[in-house]
Parts: sequence; structure tokens; C-alpha cells
Amino acid sequence: MRENLINIRERVRLAAFRAGRDPQTIKIIAVTKRVDVPRIMEAVAAGVTDLGENRVQELSAKVDKIPSSLHWHLIGHLQTNKVKHVLGKVELIHSLDSWNLAVELDRQAARMEIIPRVLVQVNVSGEETKYGINPGEAYDFITELKNLGHIKVEGLMTIAPFVDNPQEARPFFRELRLLSRELNEKISGVELKHLSMGMTNDYEVAVEEGSDMLRLGTAIFGARIDQ
Ligand SMILES: *Cc1c(COP(=O)(O)O)cnc(C)c1O
Repeated sequence: MRENLINIRERVRLAAFRAGRDPQTIKIIAVTKRVDVPRIMEAVAAGVTDLGENRVQELSAKVDKIPSSLHWHLIGHLQTNKVKHVLGKVELIHSLDSWNLAVELDRQAARMEIIPRVLVQVNVSGEETKYGINPGEAYDFITELKNLGHIKVEGLMTIAPFVDNPQEARPFFRELRLLSRELNEKISGVELKHLSMGMTNDYEVAVEEGSDMLRLGTAIFGARIDQ
């Protein structure tokens, strides 16, 4: 695992240099789904500071067993009835994907007197199996979010289609970056500063296209048994 991380950091560094970017600005989030606590702690010992879960139940089961100095990210679809299990526990929600969820987050956050940080998940590829708002809806969606006082939108997230050649993911990453730039220009009072994109299969391309948050599971922990 230590070697995996050294290898990843080197690849990130090289990809960043290819794109004329500072590698220090790129965060590696270790995706811990179906990884047990001892192995997570091994990754922490190897320098991981940010952890990502895509399911609330797994997140809840792990949060109390991991030192609170670590930063959790929710990276998967969040059902409105599970919002209360997430607020106050994660540093960033990457998967705001509907207006209903935004309203519920805002409502619960107001009660708790917190302002959670969120990314809007965009379904750039248009695949039906994927969550996320359509790129064409992003302007209206984020403009409306400004009316909710207890959510802070800080960027966009996407999941590229799974392709054999990671270069094929590039147009989707590029589209997210361009969308983010356009929205920053058009919508005042919102600063989209983060792009959460890039997984094991395609993270170097994602870095070249401007990602500053990589969500890496397999590259760090090895292959999972996906159900
Ligand atoms: C599982 C998962 C990842 C990590 O996938 P790997 O291919 O193992 O790196 C990243 N993002 C999301 C949303 C995931 O569910």
C-alpha cells in the first residue's frame, strides 16, 4: 500500500507538471468502500489524510473507529432520509445531485447551525445509470442554490464512463472544467474552486484536465470484490 501511494503521488506529480500545475494543490482521497478499519489505518500510516465513502451506512460504521483528525468525504448518492447521518461528520459532500437533496441538506444544516460544503455532481456523460444533474441544468441549479443559506457550493464532481483507454475519459473531464469556468463567470456570489474527478482508471488524465480531488480506491487498496 505504501508503494501504491508512492507510485500514485509520482504519477500525479508528473501529470501535474505536464499540465503546468502545482501537484501540491491536488488532493488524494482514499476511497475506503469495502476496506476494513485496519487496512484504512495502514493507508493513514502511509500518509493518507482524506477518506471517501460512497455509502452512508459504511461511513457511519467507520467514522467512530477512525481518528477524528482524518477528513471524510461522502462521494456517493445521498438519500434525503440519510442526510442526518452525514451532516457534521464529513468535510465535503461530493454528490449533491438533486434539488430535493439540496433542500433537505439546507433544512437539517440550519437546525444544526452548520453550513456544509458541497460539490454538485454533474452527469457529463449522460449515462442513465449515473446520478447527477445534466450540464444544461447546472446554471439554473447553482443559481437556485444561492437561495439556500445553509449550503456552501464549492465546485463540481463527475464520474467519467468506464473506458479501456483513459484518454477516452478526457472529453468528459474537460467538459466539467469548462462548465465550471463558465458558471464561475456567469454566476456572481458563487466560487466553484474544486473539481472532483478522476478514479483509479483515469486519474492522470483528470489531473491534466484540472482535477484537484482524486477519488482513488483500487489504486491504493487493490481490487475490491464488487457485488
Ligand atoms: C468506488 C468509487 C471511486 C473509486 O473507484 P476506483 O476505481 O476503485 O478508484 C471513486 N468515486 C466513486 C464515486 C466511487 O464510488
